[in-house]
Amino acid sequence: MGVNQLMAEIAGVGKDAKRGGYSRHVYDYADFELRDWFIDQALDTGLDVHTDRNGNIWAWWGSPGAGAVVTGSHLDSVPGGGAYDGPLGVASALAAVEILQGKGFEPARPLAVLVFAEEEGGRFGVPCLGSRLLTGAIDPDRARALRDADGVTLAEAAVKAGHDPKRFGADPESLARIGCFVELHVEQGRGLIETDSPIATGSSIIAHGRYRFSFSGQGNHAGATRLTDRHDPMLPAAAMIAAARRSAAAMPDARATVGRLVPTPGGTNVIASSVDLWLDARVAGTGRTAALVEDITAAALAAAEAEGCALTVTEESYSDDVVFDETLRGRMDKVLGGVPALPTGAGHDAGILAAHVPSGMLYVRNPTGISHAPDEFAEPADIDSGAAGLARVLEELAG
Ligand SMILES: [Zn+2]
Repeated sequence: MGVNQLMAEIAGVGKDAKRGGYSRHVYDYADFELRDWFIDQALDTGLDVHTDRNGNIWAWWGSPGAGAVVTGSHLDSVPGGGAYDGPLGVASALAAVEILQGKGFEPARPLAVLVFAEEEGGRFGVPCLGSRLLTGAIDPDRARALRDADGVTLAEAAVKAGHDPKRFGADPESLARIGCFVELHVEQGRGLIETDSPIATGSSIIAHGRYRFSFSGQGNHAGATRLTDRHDPMLPAAAMIAAARRSAAAMPDARATVGRLVPTPGGTNVIASSVDLWLDARVAGTGRTAALVEDITAAALAAAEAEGCALTVTEESYSDDVVFDETLRGRMDKVLGGVPALPTGAGHDAGILAAHVPSGMLYVRNPTGISHAPDEFAEPADIDSGAAGLARVLEELAG
């Protein structure tokens, strides 16, 4: 089945009627449906499927073994996300295997398609959870205790999904099998629009982190409480959001975003007792994201004190700069006939794996330049170019 046909098969799964786009989160109904779909497709393609101890799904062409060429991506989305971020890499991996089978290619090294669990952190907050667990980049105790917005822990959700969370954690056996990893992904910026190419390789990922800011004050009546008597945590929260933009604007190429804010109790006629918000901060260069967050924290703290509120800041995740393996990128570029190499501000499982095995990215043009939103897009012809390019790369690496 061609890659566009594979994408069409899952176009109805996890549509979000309220937000628009797709909400596909780890161990929810849409995720089950997508995982089942992937397993069926992989079996139809003649691959052997197994799910590892961390909920990542492997589909092997040939016997699992060391030095494997591994490709894949993720099936989950951000809340109200696009159709392509993640699934395009999975569908393209399956299509690339079919292209190679169709031309009678016999891999000289084991080849596998890998689907990572919870790449976006859309449900439990920590991005690249499947690859972090696999590589030991997150303490499994901490992972098991992560809670979603309804208070359900990852461990509870995993049990419900038929996984054993006690087995979560570093999986050196699986990691040792990966000779190299290539992830195809829809581009999440405008690099390919500007260079007029349907595909590109990835050169680097800028450092990024997520930080929870919890402001607490005094819940009270919106009408009966004089302004001078208030300890309203919404005020320092607002000041912090403005400071995030100001501080990021003062640092070259920095990004700071507050996309999620939760007041408690969240009533129109109630002064909030607390406000939680999440800062996504990204700046290239070790230590620079921390400096940006420090700057924002100082402003948030001053605003909290002025209102008689308290503030705690918790780092929920951080990934340092990633430079993708130059040798691997050179081999990819050779068979792709010379394509642009793009840096990105978006995180990927390939970025987590890059600390352990040669890893690379292959991007497919997104004519809107928009991602993590329903307007994310890729033209069918570009999608075909991506799958064909990935097939050439796999042939080169596994030949
Ligand atoms: Zn993605």
